[in-house]
Amino acid sequence: MVEKGDVMLKRINTTQPLRILIVEDSEDDTLLLVDQLEIDGGQSVDWHRVETEKALADALQQTWDIVLSDYTMPHLSGMRALEMVRQYDIDLPFIFVSGTIGENTAVKAMKSGAQDYVMKGNLSRLAPAVARELEEAQQRRERRKAEQRLRILSLVVEQAADSVLITDPGGTIQYINPAFERMTGYQRDEIIGNKPSLLKSGRHDQVFYRSIWQTVTKGEIFRGTLINRRKDGELFYEEKIITPLKDEQGQVMHLVSTGRDITERVKAEEARDQLVAILEATTDLVAILDPDGCLHYLNNAGYRMLGLDPKLDLGKFCLTELFPERIKQQLQSEAWPTAYRTGSWSGETALRRIDEIEVPVSQVLLVHRDAAGNVEYLSTIARDISERKRFEAELQHQATHDTLTGLPNRVLLMDRLNAEVERARHANNSVAVLFLDMDNFKRINDSMGHAVGDALLQQIADRLQAALRPNDTIARHGGDEFAIIAGDLARSENVLAVLRKVYAVFERPMSLGAQEAYITFCTGIAIYPHDGAGVEDLLRNAGTAMYRATLAGHNQYRFYAPDMNARSHELLTLETDLRLAFKRSEFLVYYQPKADFSTGRITAMEGLIRWRHPQRGLVPPAGFVAMLEESGLIIPVGEWMLSQSCVEFKKMELEDMRISVNVSASQFSDPELLRKVSRIMKQENMPPNALELEVTENIVMQDPAATADTLKKLRTLGVRIAIDDFGTGYSSLSYLKRFPLDALKIDQSFVRDLTHDPNDAAIVEASITLGKKLGLEVVAEGVETREQFEFLRDHGCDLAQGYYVSRPLCRSDLIDLLEKERRW
Ligand code: C2E
Ligand code: CA
Ligand code: CA
Repeated sequence: MVEKGDVMLKRINTTQPLRILIVEDSEDDTLLLVDQLEIDGGQSVDWHRVETEKALADALQQTWDIVLSDYTMPHLSGMRALEMVRQYDIDLPFIFVSGTIGENTAVKAMKSGAQDYVMKGNLSRLAPAVARELEEAQQRRERRKAEQRLRILSLVVEQAADSVLITDPGGTIQYINPAFERMTGYQRDEIIGNKPSLLKSGRHDQVFYRSIWQTVTKGEIFRGTLINRRKDGELFYEEKIITPLKDEQGQVMHLVSTGRDITERVKAEEARDQLVAILEATTDLVAILDPDGCLHYLNNAGYRMLGLDPKLDLGKFCLTELFPERIKQQLQSEAWPTAYRTGSWSGETALRRIDEIEVPVSQVLLVHRDAAGNVEYLSTIARDISERKRFEAELQHQATHDTLTGLPNRVLLMDRLNAEVERARHANNSVAVLFLDMDNFKRINDSMGHAVGDALLQQIADRLQAALRPNDTIARHGGDEFAIIAGDLARSENVLAVLRKVYAVFERPMSLGAQEAYITFCTGIAIYPHDGAGVEDLLRNAGTAMYRATLAGHNQYRFYAPDMNARSHELLTLETDLRLAFKRSEFLVYYQPKADFSTGRITAMEGLIRWRHPQRGLVPPAGFVAMLEESGLIIPVGEWMLSQSCVEFKKMELEDMRISVNVSASQFSDPELLRKVSRIMKQENMPPNALELEVTENIVMQDPAATADTLKKLRTLGVRIAIDDFGTGYSSLSYLKRFPLDALKIDQSFVRDLTHDPNDAAIVEASITLGKKLGLEVVAEGVETREQFEFLRDHGCDLAQGYYVSRPLCRSDLIDLLEKERRW
């Protein structure tokens, strides 16, 4: 209807023809009406006549400015037409134009909503009546529209979510909306006529209220947040706008206040601020991260703990960068997956400060998901536990170490022994436990005082630690008892090296207060696996052995296994015997010839050491070379061997003959080796290539770069190099190729079973091929039988050494042999 009014208004204001719907049964009367309007009103008219209810209903589908209707018609009564028009549009002007209409009918028609009536006999009234009605209809429509607008506006205010309060200029409340009732808890009739000060909470001072009042009375808008009190006494935060409404003269007529309860928001903000303040104040690191691990929040303590500049841009930082490598792996393999699965992970980790220092922390990792279960962000909290760790380590040290000497105590001794036994079980080697019990400690303590006794124990601890390998454990087992664990022993005899070192420690006197004294020990030894499979057995048996040693007197040692005692005694005295032997010139050289496979002639020989023992007779090297090595005697003895071999070789005046001498590991790494060899070569006037040095694979492979260098220098002295015991050690073909070598000696272990064991035959064949490929002379060791000899010859081996050719011989026997050969 509003739209229709709009159309109509526009139409009146334009020069468009007036649209008239005429309800009339007489066509003539209709034309009369139209003429009258066009002539009198000076209006062009667009008209349509109907005379039935149906036609009228159809016509009303279109838009009309006015309806003119007869009162009495054959098919339709005027009153019915009026009724239909009113249903269609309440404001459409309707004028009865009728010949006979009495006073009563006219009044009835007007009451039913007709605007006017005009007699057909007095049609001059028609044009002014139409004009007036059109005007009035327009006003009616505008009024109705305004009312409608007001109704909508008041509906908006009534239903608004924000509270609305309207006062007169003096501040007396005239209107509140339901949202205001809900917000304050006051009903409309309780509050109308009151002042808004009813809501005062006492949280603002007078100055504040006065400034609001001054703002609005000046005609300005107030915006701000007020803390007000509800009817039930509860406080609430209201975000308020107070707008003064002014009349045309600028006088304030009303004050309209709209408000919104923001208590929730304020509370949330307060809570958030509190949380942030706590996060910033806490001493734990708190970080918030993207699901991909990038930091986007780090609290104060976090910056401090990591040593970061507080102005640092976090965007570049990922969580993993804050941890040392091993912790990163722990996080990725354990923490991350657990946190994703269960929501959280906690454990002990360590942070890496910017200066690379590690900070041990106790850490919690949390995964936060949204309602749909998607990972929104991660957070982590880490507490610095350095202090606790230090304390724990100290406690641990105290619990496992002796306070006087700082050595491991019994507890740690058991632990270490257990670990060593485990390791030995896997590596299939031996572990030795030595118990040392000081002789006469009680007497020293009683006569010189505990302070001296303590100082002595400390000295012993220091000396033992300095003397033994860092991997050995030295523990204080009680009073004057010490225990030593020596693990990783390839053979149980190797414990003698430890025993020897212990004895060496006590060869020098100890200071006892102002004096000096020699201290001795009784020692008991048990060896895994021989003397026990477990820690307890080993300790008990070492104790038993120590007890047996003390029964024998002072400065004694005993093995738990009786057979070890005799053997070890021999070995321990061997070193002394060897020194004496060297001094007394009990060593001599034996020679073993090497024969050419193709001619059968002896073309070379190997010098082998022998010991002519005053009681034991001729001792082979197996019984003492290892001890020479261990004691370092091999250096002077080896030098003697070299020079002696060369001296005797020259004396024999052999032509086309070579001599080889074995060089041990420590000889080879002796920095003086080159000088010594060079001197001997010169002194004995050895022709080039007459002297050959035999070194094992293991020796040359120890330090390939240094070896290559040494070998090259030996070569320039005119010395040949042979690889001894080939096949038993570890060697890399690429190195063999690079070393300047002359000969390769296939180890006798392969030659021994050559004719029965196809594997050995294959190894020997391959070694020969390899040697030839590398341009080396190939020597077979340990050739004892004709079959071996023939096999090797047939496969292209160059030289044979072994009992089949000759046993090692003393000088005179060798000369005899060579003479015989020459005679052939
Ligand atoms: P090696 O260098 O492999 O010397 C060869 C060993 O095999 C010699 O033992 C020799 O007697 C033995 N042999 C030779 N032919 C046969 C055979 O047909 N059958 C058997 N079963 N054995 C044979 P020897 O003289 O007892 O020397 C043993 C090891 O002692 C040598 O092995 C060498 O490693 C070391 N050695 C000997 N003399 C010296 C030396 O002056 N200095 C150094 N550093 N080590 C030496
Ligand atoms: Ca050799
Ligand atoms: Ca050999």
